[in-house]
Amino acid sequence: MLVQSLPDTMTKLVQMSDATQFEPAGDQPQQERRHAAYQSRSLDECITHVSTPTGKRKILKAMVTTACQMNCHYCPFRAGRSKMKRLTFTPDELASGLNTLQQAGKVEGMFLSSGIIKGSVTTQDKIIDTADIVRNRYHYQGYLHLKVMPGIEYDQLYRLMQLADRVSVNLEGPTQKRLDALAPKKDFQRELLGMLQLAEQIRQTHPYEKLAGTVTQFVVGAVGDTDQELLSLSNTLYRKYGLTRAYYSGFSPVIQTPFENLLATDPLREHRLYQASFLLRDYGWNVEDLPFLTDGNMELALDPKRAWAEQYLREAPLEIMTARRDQLLRIPGIGPVGADAILKARRRGKLTSFTDLQKLGIHAPEQASPYILLDSHTPIAQMKLF
Ligand code: SF4
Repeated sequence: MLVQSLPDTMTKLVQMSDATQFEPAGDQPQQERRHAAYQSRSLDECITHVSTPTGKRKILKAMVTTACQMNCHYCPFRAGRSKMKRLTFTPDELASGLNTLQQAGKVEGMFLSSGIIKGSVTTQDKIIDTADIVRNRYHYQGYLHLKVMPGIEYDQLYRLMQLADRVSVNLEGPTQKRLDALAPKKDFQRELLGMLQLAEQIRQTHPYEKLAGTVTQFVVGAVGDTDQELLSLSNTLYRKYGLTRAYYSGFSPVIQTPFENLLATDPLREHRLYQASFLLRDYGWNVEDLPFLTDGNMELALDPKRAWAEQYLREAPLEIMTARRDQLLRIPGIGPVGADAILKARRRGKLTSFTDLQKLGIHAPEQASPYILLDSHTPIAQMKLF
């Protein structure tokens, strides 16, 4: 008799670990990637250190299944790709796996995604069931980040938002045209953007309930998407849909996919997109303020804030004692905390030197120096540092 032993949950998690590096789970996605793919040997490799809103955490990144009926052109899990080992968990297996790791002090949360099998609704139910067991059988209160499948039902999204700290709806492209080129079976408005709209509607309808924040991910640079397209949509999502965070994942070719011969996106483009995205989200900038070139992209060589300052402040530096908060936030080297510290300090007395700024926690005043005037009306760039 042939006796075939099925791999246990931990063995499967180890085998899956390389697959889960394709999706960001925390606030510093660049740090989550490993470049030596498909060599996982230990459990530690399926645990990622991610930044969350409440600090650094060890997170289990897992998928309900690495099989998928869809054919997104860039994706390692697309249907028919024989080089991807397919693994599937039951909700019980995943929940007990998380419980074991959590009790052993190995992880402090989970990011759970999935390929799509038997449609989005059925797949989503597997994620919901897993989270339900985690929360209600194991009474786990730690961090859960759950993936939203395209075009799911209202009740499913609401339940996910009750169970999770964070949910992600990956838009992938910034328009239907870009999405068609990346993922031809997906509907941009109805299945993806509609989910983010619905999430915001759920938050508005249940203002006193603790519900998950929403994030999204774009695949950058495979299909001609421009920085302007990506950042314009990000801005709308921050302003109107209460988005917590947009992720920009530079395209990287995967063998045995239709995009295997395309060039990888320069990581510096990702970095510039994040810098610009934070200006929109945290610094009160408008999309029109960003320094786009005529092709709709930003210069790679220059931080977008510095590019703006070179254009507008180099010849007309701002008076540090009279600039408004929104103007202070235009100055390289000064962020929201620094701007608030300057406003407070101004009420107590004059700021006349770099040292005064450093005492306020502005660690690199030399970045600001070409663009500001101190109380003495001497351009700081011409003053001695100490
Ligand atoms: S639906 Fe998701 S997992 Fe499936 S091929 Fe598309 S991106 Fe990959």
